[in-house]
Amino acid sequence: MLRPLCQNLYLSTLKNRQSLVALQRSLHSTNRMSDKTYEDPATIQFLEDVHKIMVDDALVKGTSREAPVVEFRHPEDLKKLLQLPVKNEPATSAEILEDCKRVIKYSVKTGSVQFYNQLYAGIEPYSLAGSWITDALNTNIHTFEVAPVFVLLEQYCVQKICSLIGYENGDGVFGSGGSFCNLMATHLARYKRYPQMKTEGMYNQPILDLYTSDQAHYSLLKAGGYLGFGTDNIIRIKTDDGGRMLIDDLEVKVEESKKKGHIPFFVMGSCGTTVMGAYDTLNEIADSCSKHNMWFHIDAAWGGGVLLSSKYRHLMDGVERADSVAWNLHKMVGANIQCSGIFVKEKGLLEKTNRAYAEYLFQPDKFYDVSYDIGDKTVQCGRKADVLKLWLLWKGKGDSGLSERIEKAFDNSQYLTSKLRETSGFKLVIPEFQCTNICFWYIPPSLRGQEETPEWWAKVAKVSPIIKQRMIEEGSMMIGFCPLSMKGHVNFFRIIVVNPACEYSDMDKVLTEIERLGKDL
Ligand SMILES: *Cc1c(COP(=O)(O)O)cnc(C)c1O
Repeated sequence: MLRPLCQNLYLSTLKNRQSLVALQRSLHSTNRMSDKTYEDPATIQFLEDVHKIMVDDALVKGTSREAPVVEFRHPEDLKKLLQLPVKNEPATSAEILEDCKRVIKYSVKTGSVQFYNQLYAGIEPYSLAGSWITDALNTNIHTFEVAPVFVLLEQYCVQKICSLIGYENGDGVFGSGGSFCNLMATHLARYKRYPQMKTEGMYNQPILDLYTSDQAHYSLLKAGGYLGFGTDNIIRIKTDDGGRMLIDDLEVKVEESKKKGHIPFFVMGSCGTTVMGAYDTLNEIADSCSKHNMWFHIDAAWGGGVLLSSKYRHLMDGVERADSVAWNLHKMVGANIQCSGIFVKEKGLLEKTNRAYAEYLFQPDKFYDVSYDIGDKTVQCGRKADVLKLWLLWKGKGDSGLSERIEKAFDNSQYLTSKLRETSGFKLVIPEFQCTNICFWYIPPSLRGQEETPEWWAKVAKVSPIIKQRMIEEGSMMIGFCPLSMKGHVNFFRIIVVNPACEYSDMDKVLTEIERLGKDL
């Protein structure tokens, strides 16, 4: 299905030019690109060739089960292979094509079913089409003037997501990633409570404390440094074994802040923590936030996809009580990177917080409805339109197709969990996982059936890095590993199941591959 889609899209625009292109074909190999660009048949030929390489090498071969997920080279070797130097003389199109091939050859194929390393995997053809078209149009989404279509698409998708969350009169804006959207949330919260800080700064103001769980994403710490809250005032709340925030501890920490004369200000709940996939109990956090007058933000960067599934939506019960939600649509939902947004309960707050009235961009006396100039909703000036990657995907799959995508990931991860549970040599880090990231140790035969002493754990800690190295050197699979020192866990594998092309047989292969590469350890 991938090939016809890509080709139709592209070839329809090329058809008229094919005869010209044929004439120029012989010249092509030595040609340099002329400044006439798209009047020049050689340009069209070049793009057609790039397109073919992209489809054949990056997509068809890149996602095949037989092809390596990566052809790893160490940095110094890769530098040489890539022929990095830019010369004074322009390169020929033929040389650039060779560059393109090398770029694809040595890049990681995240579309492969053997790629389990990150919180995204698989390449959705409709989203990819969105990515191509966005780049072919090369514009900014700050004003209706230069991005009429993208502005309307973003507003449509923002409203659709707000209604999924349960915001009746919500608002939102896309931004470059979950970290950025979490940062935006702290900024919004500060403006809402202390609008004067926008103009006066934080001098002679009370110290504001922000809370999040000890399993939450590190981006809140960065926001603390960036916006002047101070990283010391980002307070970590204890979690249970599964990684969910303990509300009793939140209450304790809030009281401690008050005793110090600090203002309890902001809580970030997590839906799908990065390592263990924990979903905080949102209703409990919401209660605590209303009680202490704190902003309630949800980081659903990874796990927000459950909002699309009637089967798993319950994991986010209470989401509509949050003041803001950050969600990476490029993770579980499968839009191409990047595609993230912040969604806010109170309409208008994004503008009020970020507005700077740039008179060269947001002239109030334009001839159209300037409420469609959405640029002042965010900190960015120019901003890439990321929405087409989502809109085309969502249209192409429908609500039902996206829901199936999410449920398939859960189904695969549950199958994998039960295989890991019943296969000797594998040990789950916790008995059940709420999301589709699964954490486990591989115990090689030499370490099985022994007492789990600190020395034994020290040996187990060395296993996953070695297996990972072997996997990458062979290019056979990519799975991440990490320790979780907060919980006293040494290095374990963290596999992320999200690619809908994965079948049970691929899950089986994860176990056999780890066993094959690690049984001698
Ligand atoms: C990925 C992730 C983020 C960060 O998102 P970026 O787009 O990489 O900045 C934040 N929170 C959670 C839970 C995540 O999984």
